[in-house]
Amino acid sequence: MNHHQVETAASNSEQTTFSQPLFSDVLAQTDFTELQLITADQSRVLQALYAKTPDLTDLAVLLSPQAKLMLPELIARAAELTRQHFGAARQLFAPLYMSNLCANECTYCGFSMSQAVKRRVLQSEELLLEAEAVKALGHDQLLLVAGEHDRKVGMDYFRRQVPLLRPLFSRLMLEVQPLSSSDYQELKQLGIDTVLVYQETYQPLAYQQYHLKGNKTDMRWRLNCPDRLGVAGMDKIGLGILLGLADWRLDALALGLHLRHLQQHYWRSHYSVAFPRLRPCSGGVEPAVLVGDAELVQLYCAFRIFAPELELILSTRENARLRDLLLPLMITSLSAGSKTQPGGYRVAPQALQQFSIDDERSPAQMAEVMVSLGLQPVWTNWHPAFGRGEAQ
Ligand code: SF4
Repeated sequence: MNHHQVETAASNSEQTTFSQPLFSDVLAQTDFTELQLITADQSRVLQALYAKTPDLTDLAVLLSPQAKLMLPELIARAAELTRQHFGAARQLFAPLYMSNLCANECTYCGFSMSQAVKRRVLQSEELLLEAEAVKALGHDQLLLVAGEHDRKVGMDYFRRQVPLLRPLFSRLMLEVQPLSSSDYQELKQLGIDTVLVYQETYQPLAYQQYHLKGNKTDMRWRLNCPDRLGVAGMDKIGLGILLGLADWRLDALALGLHLRHLQQHYWRSHYSVAFPRLRPCSGGVEPAVLVGDAELVQLYCAFRIFAPELELILSTRENARLRDLLLPLMITSLSAGSKTQPGGYRVAPQALQQFSIDDERSPAQMAEVMVSLGLQPVWTNWHPAFGRGEAQ
């Protein structure tokens, strides 16, 4: 392993010295061939279902085509573990798109720089209007989202906007371009509790094929972003892959390896995982790999069993029927009433979306459904009177 590495990127002049291996090196040194070829009979699947400390081999077994034939058993075990670790509580949150400006070209995304769409960066007053509209829907946990544009929607912008929004919500989450450790430390001070940074795919050839221009072409900078978040002591770190780009089983195994790496080195942080499926966008890209509903369910079950304490997120990209099915079983956090364009709640409700959403139900309707399923909708997970629990 390469200890004491120096992490740099074209997009950032900061140099951070890490005292532990970075995930990019762990990934480069891992051969997944054996895990991919694993053949599991029924008893091996049962062994993985009830493993005390499931390892990557157990995850490979749970993701295998053979395990798919035992989906009812996987679902039952995932539901049992979800009940044990989370009871009936399910978190609700909403995304707020701050900007659709993007300096990258990702072939599957409607915000790519080459797309001829009207660009917009919300400024303070507009952000506050949007935030109030989200609050009026009942939400108390907000995910701030933006396309990747360091110059116009970078640290200066976050420094101005985050403190304005912080008093309105009990949890502020961020999904923007990967930043440096010192930036994350500062964002934590400003009031960001959670950062999501999805790798999209862990397979270098596929990654190159879909990411054509801009800082996102630097796969290593993105791969090591969760390490930088861990070093910064971020409370929660969100990982994810975009299903439809490449072999999903291989990407899921790499994600499992990533999660274990982070849990081992940054054990103070909490983790979440999401598996968005590629949806039609204005770029019109069709998924290269189709991931069916049964496979999506298998994937969520496998991760619940692999890491029972993990927050599993489901987005409004999925349809209402599937969301209602998965919610009681293993999902612990979901967005509701989402608008995926800047200004979508109040300022510019008709603008272009990053991707189309399927579940159009309002947060209140979603909460009613949850109650009818015997679940407890959780709008807020912290009271301001307690202060913010700093990790160190
Ligand atoms: S996926 Fe993200 S980085 Fe890529 S074009 Fe869309 S908004 Fe920009």
